[in-house]
Amino acid sequence: MNDRELINYCDIHSRTERALFLGVHVNRMIELAGHPSDFVREVHPAQWVSVKEEMQTLCRLARERLNLKEQPALPQPMEKTMTQAFVESFKALQVAIHQTARSKGFWDKERNQGEILALIHSEVSEALEALRHGNPPDDKVPQFRGVEAELADVIIRIMDMAEGCNYRVAEAIVAKMAMNATRERMNGGKAF
Ligand SMILES: [Mg+2]
Repeated sequence: MNDRELINYCDIHSRTERALFLGVHVNRMIELAGHPSDFVREVHPAQWVSVKEEMQTLCRLARERLNLKEQPALPQPMEKTMTQAFVESFKALQVAIHQTARSKGFWDKERNQGEILALIHSEVSEALEALRHGNPPDDKVPQFRGVEAELADVIIRIMDMAEGCNYRVAEAIVAKMAMNATRERMNGGKAF
């Protein structure tokens, strides 16, 4: 998104209840507003932060500096955070993936969750094998490298499990991203 789109995006989302922003967007807005760092500090680019009034001030200052007109208020359905959009898209895709797996008979019998997890492992191993063989084009989708295709398999299996076992993986991803962003460097001294 360009600077103008970013200002409009931040303006809209600063008016929503949670007003959640990625650090990279906050930092760019600080830059566009001319670094009024007396009331808002730069944050880690991957960290999610909730900034409401401060963001509205940044939007106003950025518009003044770039000589942009005020963005008209958008209708309610447009007031969706990126996080909500991610969760909704993820869930819609997991339903489609699960329906395909069901239609192919993979859920005809009751499934053992340990077995599903083992199959997720197997896709990670296939990614490793692809890498060991020089990461050639995948045999089924040759427009992608082996590792790309196998990582896709990992995620497809995870999404299928999320839907089939009623696990809230999309929401958990959002929660873990927010938590990970607050952790110390190397999670407090881990070797790798
Ligand atoms: Mg595979």
